[in-house]
Amino acid sequence: MAEGKYEPVVIDLTPDGLYIKWQDGYESILPHRYLRGNCGCAQCVDEITHVRKVGISDVASNIVVEEFMEIGRYAIGILFSDLHETGIYPYKMLRDLTTRLED
Ligand SMILES: [Zn+2]
Repeated sequence: MAEGKYEPVVIDLTPDGLYIKWQDGYESILPHRYLRGNCGCAQCVDEITHVRKVGISDVASNIVVEEFMEIGRYAIGILFSDLHETGIYPYKMLRDLTTRLED
């Protein structure tokens, strides 16, 4: 399956962020604040204009992921320490965020 490499085999919460091991063997850590600042929910991104309303600079530097839950087979939902929990993070998006982190 072509999308297979975007499927995590391990997702774990670490002090540095969300650790993900991907099906293709790639490993990444997405920092807590980076994840919060890239939330794609309607509170963070305008649904009509797609302009980001809440970005990394709007997020407290000590923010952390409190917990995450799998949503179906394609995404996770994240609860942050500021109680923000409306964001859905598809695996494809998490992988894209990983790539951008390394640019
Ligand atoms: Zn959001």
